[in-house]
Amino acid sequence: SPQIVWLRRDLRLCDHHAFTAAAEAGPVIPVYVLDDETPEDRRMGGASRWWLHHSLAALADDLGRHRSKLVLRRGRASDVLGALVEETGAEAVHATRHYEPWWREAEEELAERIRLCLHDGNYLLPPGTVTTGSGSPYKIYSPFRDAMREAIDGFDPLPEPSLTNPDTWPESDDLADWGLLPTKPDWAGGMVDVWDGTFGTSAAMARFERFLDGVKDYGVDRNLPAEDGTSRMSPHLHHGEVSPRMLWDAMSRYTTDGANTFRNELIWRDYAQNVIQQFPKYAEEPYRDGYDDSFWRNPNRGHLIAEELEAWQRGLTGYPIVDAGMRQLWATGWMHNRVRMIAASFLVKHLLIDWRHGEQWYWDCLVDADYGNNGVNWQWISGTGVDSNMFVRIMAPLSQSEKFDAADYIREWVPELADLSDAEIHDPSDKCRPDDYPAKIIGHKEARERALETYRASKR
Ligand code: FAD
Repeated sequence: SPQIVWLRRDLRLCDHHAFTAAAEAGPVIPVYVLDDETPEDRRMGGASRWWLHHSLAALADDLGRHRSKLVLRRGRASDVLGALVEETGAEAVHATRHYEPWWREAEEELAERIRLCLHDGNYLLPPGTVTTGSGSPYKIYSPFRDAMREAIDGFDPLPEPSLTNPDTWPESDDLADWGLLPTKPDWAGGMVDVWDGTFGTSAAMARFERFLDGVKDYGVDRNLPAEDGTSRMSPHLHHGEVSPRMLWDAMSRYTTDGANTFRNELIWRDYAQNVIQQFPKYAEEPYRDGYDDSFWRNPNRGHLIAEELEAWQRGLTGYPIVDAGMRQLWATGWMHNRVRMIAASFLVKHLLIDWRHGEQWYWDCLVDADYGNNGVNWQWISGTGVDSNMFVRIMAPLSQSEKFDAADYIREWVPELADLSDAEIHDPSDKCRPDDYPAKIIGHKEARERALETYRASKR
């Protein structure tokens, strides 16, 4: 009898344990359910929905090559799947295990109604499997990374399964009717420029192979926003068009320091999920005590603070590196990692605004918005998380901008400043600052002192 494969953030056929197990058990019905109810406040953001549209279209093409189909349904996943099992007479639903708290609940609920077979495969190793000597999961990245490096002995990703079809196909929605793409205003033009032609497994792997040609320089280039020195695999990994094991395997013959650094970055992704598995609310609530509402300047406390948040969101803070990053994010759905850090630190320390406002904005704007990666990185920058307290380590955006040679990056994203020299562009003086670029929202020294004083006061 037919087997349903329930797809979520695993939109691929290769290295897909649920697809492989289903194909071995019977004819396969691949299903994607657009579910805006189960995640409640964590409904997918606008940029992720845009990506999802293209990723589903690419997967439907791949399935077409196998003479199979992608069935699209909309609604609460456990209800929709429960009904679909009845409708098709399916014997089981196979799915990749997810760790977001709402998916864990949905999996539990569904397992009570039908036969649900969960498979691992979206991470290098299933979260929770690498543990300390005493058997508990790791909280801190470095020992986790070392233990992962020890535990990993290469991977042998699964090939695409050979699929057989059910006698009759259930009805499917039309992807175009889901409204995942913006209509008016169409804000996705910059995203099309950057990402068009890269969706789906084979395009992503081709991009990754090109990245590997220069991976020996990754250790240095990854910090330079003006260079195209990172893999840009994050949206492909988030939506599961590729698995991290496929990337690890593809780079098995690369032994340079750059390749090693890249492997450690992939382990960050596993680390974040390892934290979410232990603390499911991690992206919503500070882990440490002392960082509740009263610590922050929250936008609901006055219109000036709300305006500052908006200036940060729109890239109008008067700090060129921060503004360049926030505008890159808005235009393309992606921001360079170094700049994600600088911009996040600026919101939390210079403006003293609760990291959760920043987390939400990234969630809505990133094509790779990921509950684990986003929450873990925001808490890390803010010093509110499981790591040693970083709040007092305040990044200086202007010197970061110089140190990582961001002049051309700023020229690209803040065109008002394009004519300034390398010496001026990181921190334009009042004399050379063009009229259409704002003055600094707050001075660096003043902001730093305010942040440190707030921290000291919270400890008294
Ligand atoms: P590469 O440098 O090529 O790295 C390869 C892969 O390793 C990435 O695709 C990603 O899967 C993983 N990786 C790299 N750095 C990290 C990291 N610090 N944490 C977790 N995984 C990492 N990444 C997301 O995928 N989704 C998010 O929502 C997200 N939010 C972030 C928020 C903040 C405040 C910060 C500082 C970082 C965030 N990151 C997030 C991590 C990182 O910035 C991106 O993964 C990276 O910039 C993606 O570009 P890339 O694929 O070219 O990275």
